[in-house]
Amino acid sequence: MIKDSELDALIICKKCHKLHKVEQLKHGEIATCSLCNTVLYSCDQDIIKKGLALSIASLIFLFLTNLFPLVQVDFLGSEQYVTITKTIITLSHEGFWFVALMVASLIFVSPIIIISLYITLFMLIYLKRNKDAARKMLILLGYILPWHMSDIFLISILVALVKLIGFVQINMGVAFFSLLVFVIINLYITRAMPMHTLWFQYQKNFKDEKDD
Ligand SMILES: [Zn+2]
Repeated sequence: MIKDSELDALIICKKCHKLHKVEQLKHGEIATCSLCNTVLYSCDQDIIKKGLALSIASLIFLFLTNLFPLVQVDFLGSEQYVTITKTIITLSHEGFWFVALMVASLIFVSPIIIISLYITLFMLIYLKRNKDAARKMLILLGYILPWHMSDIFLISILVALVKLIGFVQINMGVAFFSLLVFVIINLYITRAMPMHTLWFQYQKNFKDEKDD
């Protein structure tokens, strides 16, 4: 039976599924597939530090998004502040449990799990501690990343606001802008630090460590 550590030394091309042996790269180098030229992984010595800083910033913006008003609505002279938390509570009080659950998981539960995973993972790789836990986190991250849909939440808010403009006066609140920054940071993390690059960095940092 093939051991996990032996499998870790191999990487599969996402496009053509050709198997390659992971080679050590120098800073700034990129490994591509020998068949279809797709980027397999890259080496950036600062990626773990950058990832850690960006994940912490992203966590701060996520809390701001959930604490402050998303929009201020002026309707027939009365002012209403809409916060995400208040919206979730109102939806559940009105009996829309499923919608409340979806909004809560989309904008709070799933992002907080993913960002906490990122922070812990980057810290473990940076400090070269607990190789086995870092490995399990990378596998878990691969499974749950497709559920990171805060960008879709932002787009649905924009669509709702466009429909409301003309009926009521809307002013964007602090949470709207922090949600925007949160989504941009997260898009950057997933684009600039794809899973295969994280796996490569994991192998590079733990190459002298034995399996736990
Ligand atoms: Zn390929």
